[in-house]
Amino acid sequence: MSELQTRINVGEWWSTERPRIAALIPQRCGEVVVESTGAMQRADAENDATTLADAAALCARAYTIQGEPDVAARVLHDLLSGPEGRFAATDRAVLMAALGIAYEALGKYAEALDLQHEAHTIFASADDVRAMAASRLSMGVVHSRCQDHAIGYGHYVAALESFERLNDHIGMVRALNNIGLDQRNMGRFDESLATFDRALSVAHAQNFASLIPTLSGNRGRTLMALGRLTEARASFEHYARGTANNTWTRSALDARLGLIEVAHAQGERTPVIKALRELIPEIAQQGVLDEEVKALNLLAETLEAVGDAASALLAYKHLRERERKWLDQRANTRLRASTLMTDLDAARHEAKEEHRLRDELSKAHAALAIESAERSARTDELYRQSREDALTGLPNRRDFTERMAEECRRAERFQQPLCVTMVDIDHFKRVNDKFGHAAGDQALVEIARRLRSVLRAGDLVARLGGEEFAVLLPNATAADALALCERLREAVAATPVMLANAAHRVTISIGVTTYVPPESTDDALSRADMRLYGAKTAGRNRVIAD
Ligand code: GH3
Ligand code: MG
Ligand code: MG
Repeated sequence: MSELQTRINVGEWWSTERPRIAALIPQRCGEVVVESTGAMQRADAENDATTLADAAALCARAYTIQGEPDVAARVLHDLLSGPEGRFAATDRAVLMAALGIAYEALGKYAEALDLQHEAHTIFASADDVRAMAASRLSMGVVHSRCQDHAIGYGHYVAALESFERLNDHIGMVRALNNIGLDQRNMGRFDESLATFDRALSVAHAQNFASLIPTLSGNRGRTLMALGRLTEARASFEHYARGTANNTWTRSALDARLGLIEVAHAQGERTPVIKALRELIPEIAQQGVLDEEVKALNLLAETLEAVGDAASALLAYKHLRERERKWLDQRANTRLRASTLMTDLDAARHEAKEEHRLRDELSKAHAALAIESAERSARTDELYRQSREDALTGLPNRRDFTERMAEECRRAERFQQPLCVTMVDIDHFKRVNDKFGHAAGDQALVEIARRLRSVLRAGDLVARLGGEEFAVLLPNATAADALALCERLREAVAATPVMLANAAHRVTISIGVTTYVPPESTDDALSRADMRLYGAKTAGRNRVIAD
């Protein structure tokens, strides 16, 4: 790859190189395959789907013309069945149109038409008139192949109109050429001749040297059909001259065969036999079986006409052998087509199955995700429930003791003060007795709220059970803790609690102690409990510290 090629992106490179590469068709298809495959690889690496599709279409055209339409179809099919969204709609349509051409060459006419129609619809919605005209041309070719010349003709005329509007001369010449062929096939020889004349005048005006020989040859055959042999000869001579310096031998051979056919029609015998004997081995060397069959047929007929029965018999024998080969070749094409279709069917089936499995898998994943989210929500809830007091929403004893253990370790490690307090509601039994259990519960909730409201964010208050609470005060000195406990006591005692529509004064007693590492949490808690007991015995509604 040249330095220039590596510097510019593949899209720019392709748009400058494409015309040169495309012009190698039909003579040097092998080179086209190599160059366009390179472009496809670069486009793939650079994520340029448009260039990838266009290069693939050209590559496929080259494969098709060099007699490997099944390879072309596989290349295109692989791209089309890739991940969804890889190609924009119009790029897909380019691939479909190219696949349609390959299918046409494989004799898969219905599939070819379907693809061209689908591509045409996409091009229409993208307002791409040129691409629409090109797929119209391809549709026409399929119909012509099926001997539906009138339908083919209709498509060519529509394509011609578009190319005229676009001032696309190459497109015009291609459409005119196909129109001329169809007119001849429908027996409309005068119109066919006029069409080839018009195509030739456009080609001459535009200097399309490579198209002129083919047009001259086709014009020559129409003239022959009209019986205008002298003009036909001139047209074939033009054709032969045009193809003489052309590397595409097939056209040159066809031109020479055309000239021989004219001579034959003019009643010449010996020169025809001589020319055919020269031409046939050359055709055979090129492997163009249909032309070889045509030439052998002409030779056998002419030999018979001059009365050379022995040579005629030999020629017929040779003809039959080549015909059989030709039929084999056509059967082989059909075989390749059906192998391809079976493979593609299997691939499609596999893709569908894979799609289905992936779908199922993703559904299972989704279900699993929902289930596990539910489960984890449930687990969270259970966890919460296992650590929370249902009545007050405060942490319960289990949660408190675990977190206290952590705080004790932290206090020891960082040598920070930690205080723990026990809180018990005074004469709570009386509350229950006087107002009922439900009112007692209400009082518990209200007192829990008041305790929480006084505490700092890092402090921890829990309900240990019954009317007993505990408060953990990390990073609090004994003096801090004492002050805080006084505030707790105040918060409860200062304001009566509403119970069964009556204000009732509730008080609490508090015992507070400082954690002394490395003692256990139980040791610290029972000391706090002892201080609480002290507060009770000292008359309640008070705080007792170490
Ligand atoms: P003291 O000042 O000595 O603590 O007296 P007290 O009545 O508060 O103590 P005691 O331990 O004798 O009684 C505690 C009462 O708390 C007993 C029970 O009826 C009540 N109690 C415990 N748990 C609950 C509860 O969840 N709801 C209600 N309404 N009452 C409870
Ligand atoms: Mg009590
Ligand atoms: Mg108690």
